[in-house]
Amino acid sequence: MASHQDELVFLPLGGLGEIGMNAALYGFGPERDRQWILVDCGMGFGGEENLPGIDVVYPDLRFIEEERHNLLGIFITHAHEDHIGALVEMWPRLQAPVYATKFAIGLLETRRLSEPNAPKVDLNEIVPGQRLKLGPFDIEYVPVAHSIPESNALAIRTPHGLVVHTGDWKLDSTPYLGSLTSEEAFRALGDEGVLALVCDSTNVVREGTSPSEADVSKNLAQLIKDSPHRVAVTTFASNVARIRSVAEAARECGREVIVVGRAMDRVVEVAKECGYLEDLPEFRSADNFGYIPRDKVVAILTGSQGEPRAALARIAQDEHPDIALSAGDRVIFSSRAIPGNEKAVGSIINSLIEQGIDVITDRTEMVHVSGHPRRGELAQMYQWTRPRIAIPAHGEPLHLSEHAKFARQQGVQEVVRAKNGTLVRLSPGPAEIVDTIPAGRLYRDGNIVIGAAERALPERRKLAFAGIVTVAIAIDDRGELVGDPVIDAMGLPDKNRQGRDMTDIIADTVADLLDGLPKAKRRDPEAVENAVHRAVRAAVNQEWGKKPACHVLVIEA
Ligand SMILES: [Zn+2]
Ligand SMILES: [Zn+2]
Repeated sequence: MASHQDELVFLPLGGLGEIGMNAALYGFGPERDRQWILVDCGMGFGGEENLPGIDVVYPDLRFIEEERHNLLGIFITHAHEDHIGALVEMWPRLQAPVYATKFAIGLLETRRLSEPNAPKVDLNEIVPGQRLKLGPFDIEYVPVAHSIPESNALAIRTPHGLVVHTGDWKLDSTPYLGSLTSEEAFRALGDEGVLALVCDSTNVVREGTSPSEADVSKNLAQLIKDSPHRVAVTTFASNVARIRSVAEAARECGREVIVVGRAMDRVVEVAKECGYLEDLPEFRSADNFGYIPRDKVVAILTGSQGEPRAALARIAQDEHPDIALSAGDRVIFSSRAIPGNEKAVGSIINSLIEQGIDVITDRTEMVHVSGHPRRGELAQMYQWTRPRIAIPAHGEPLHLSEHAKFARQQGVQEVVRAKNGTLVRLSPGPAEIVDTIPAGRLYRDGNIVIGAAERALPERRKLAFAGIVTVAIAIDDRGELVGDPVIDAMGLPDKNRQGRDMTDIIADTVADLLDGLPKAKRRDPEAVENAVHRAVRAAVNQEWGKKPACHVLVIEA
């Protein structure tokens, strides 16, 4: 079946170099005529980088956009934003059938319905455990435990061997809700013979094994029960097991559950449809909050990452229309700040504490557990699957290189340190990086998606650092000034150290410069612009120690 020119390759376009924007291609066929599948299509968050005005980052998929006639399908492992968040935006450029489980499809659909003009995506439902043949690929969804329902590893069988793409996973024998990572299933794959394991690196720097979701649940219940007043729990909206834990704890101690925040509403709606919130009292909407006695309510909130527009931030600022907390109430952060969000989360925590609110975080209590495997769990996965090749994935460079060392310690013969854009040949022959293709990031800027090479971002950074001076000068055809130059400054300090007005200093500089220019030069707009530009920046630098951007407009009057 396989011709001697056929190769099996792995080409990550996102997620190998950052935690976020996962998008990985597998290709099969001769070099010039490969067929591809894409695993996940996630977004990243702009907050960690110095990108004013950018909240969302997408992987640059231009390689597969150009090859889309050879793209057989897009396979979603689970519904976290770093795995599905770019799909609705990027799908029109790819237009391949998308395969995902019911829960992921439900979330994609509810979000699409809330966004006007969002494209209709070709979504196809997969049942965990299902196997699907597509061209040279035979893809099996293998359930794993993680922090969202219906998470799956993919067992990708090809004529050149079996690749196990773990997706996000952990071991948890009591996951509270959702799947187990089955030793039996992964051992069976190992027995079949695993060519390559492409595995989650998020927690490779942590020793031991993660606590169970059931431990978190028990502890949360106690903290809710012990609270004399209102309790608010904030967590990732998608963590349905956590929402269910809180709801069950609330029922135990006779409290009503209020769900607050749009993302949380959407997840609750889909989780109900999928049967994950059965046998629980109805949740109440936020507008009931004020009418329920203080010791009879638990609110579940969005905003655990410090997002400024989410419910928790607005409550901390006392700006929420329905929910207000007061001294003696308790807020539980059943979450951990994603790198880059620590400051925003910290400022909400401080603001709550200033108001006399009791704040509980995972630093002092077992109120959160990560959904990713620590070293002990990773070791198990390597023992079960016994791959010939290991490729660390889902991590920043530090995680990937630590994972590479770890995989060698586990006895894996070939460890490849792939990153976004490296084309790895898995078979035939030894695994190696054989090519590098353009990969990178796209930025969601308002309603527009822009490339990393656009001027907008460096310009915006410059403006944020030192502001801008605008000078408008009218000159007639004899080289005489018509009226006074108009000067405007934005983002500069009002006065210099001696208390002189900055705009006066700029006006004097411009006037002196124009006086000193010979008439012939004044008739050349470009020469005037250049001279004024240089003089203004030099003068401001002298006073301030920083050079602003400067726009000079010469109008020929
Ligand atoms: Zn995940
Ligand atoms: Zn992930």
